[in-house]
Amino acid sequence: MTTTESVPAEASPRAAASQPLLAVDGLGVEFQLRDARVRAVSDLSLTIRAGELLAVVGESGCGKSVLAHALLGLLPGNATTTGHAVLHHPGADPVDLVTCGQRQLARRVRGRRVGLVPQSPATALNPVRTGRRLLAETLRAHGRDRADTDRLAVDVGLDPADLDRYPHELSGGMAQRLATALALAPDPSLLIADEPTTGLDRPLVDHTLDLLRRRCDTGAAVVLITHDLAAARRVADTVAVMYASRIVEHRDTDQLFTAPAHPYASALLDALPDRAFRPVPGDPPMLTALPPGCAFAPRCPRRTDTCVDRPQPTPVTGGGTVACHHPIPTGATT
Ligand code: SF4
Repeated sequence: MTTTESVPAEASPRAAASQPLLAVDGLGVEFQLRDARVRAVSDLSLTIRAGELLAVVGESGCGKSVLAHALLGLLPGNATTTGHAVLHHPGADPVDLVTCGQRQLARRVRGRRVGLVPQSPATALNPVRTGRRLLAETLRAHGRDRADTDRLAVDVGLDPADLDRYPHELSGGMAQRLATALALAPDPSLLIADEPTTGLDRPLVDHTLDLLRRRCDTGAAVVLITHDLAAARRVADTVAVMYASRIVEHRDTDQLFTAPAHPYASALLDALPDRAFRPVPGDPPMLTALPPGCAFAPRCPRRTDTCVDRPQPTPVTGGGTVACHHPIPTGATT
């Protein structure tokens, strides 16, 4: 996934050589509350290529999940979405996910070309059907053999015998794995996985991550939305760091983890237990009252008077972008 106005972050060689699958340009999402407007996603531009696994990371409330729901037209009625998100598909006309309308999204996109592993699978599963029936119906609807149900269950780490349970009989981790199987059943070219490892123990976390990685290795693209930086590092080609509704750094995974350029990305990595284990100081801003300049300024050790102006995404050495007036030079610390 690459910001369109600047140097691409380095995806895997296979992804870098492939065609753009999704081109997002100037995406914005606002929610109208009774007495305030919440700016959840601001001026977000990127391209996702076939075979690419992009991790979107950041603190809770930074806009990660809203981004996923905006791409699938799953926002509530008080949301306004602006910009464009053009989905390409071999042999079919491109579809602008922002402007095409709910009818097209339902008929051509959701659960077909684009799959979603929701953050709260228990509430997304039909409570009156067993997992087996849910999976078989989904496979049949997409022209696939219902005999694939057991194979899909095994793929996501679910005992096929558990498919005969109803959703309320599943643990949180089992429901998560069933939701992942349902999202994979139509064989979508783009899978958006919103915290797909929630409720799983470590071996199943790794199993799920490796499953997502294999999706990309067969030519699909995956957007992994996660607060788990270790998960991002394990499987992502590129990482986009979001802060207060914006992407502040977007890099090749190894580059981000070895030499973050944005002070927030650096602070986020410093909070990891195997690093400084030092929490990011201060609190993120309210999305109802974002400042006109850099939203990270009150927490940033590198801020200057220049930071009252909003920094734009700028190419960074080695590829990718950073939105900061004073990025951290390679080899330096904050
Ligand atoms: S623009 Fe300024 S305040 Fe914002 S992250 Fe960069 S140095 Fe810090």
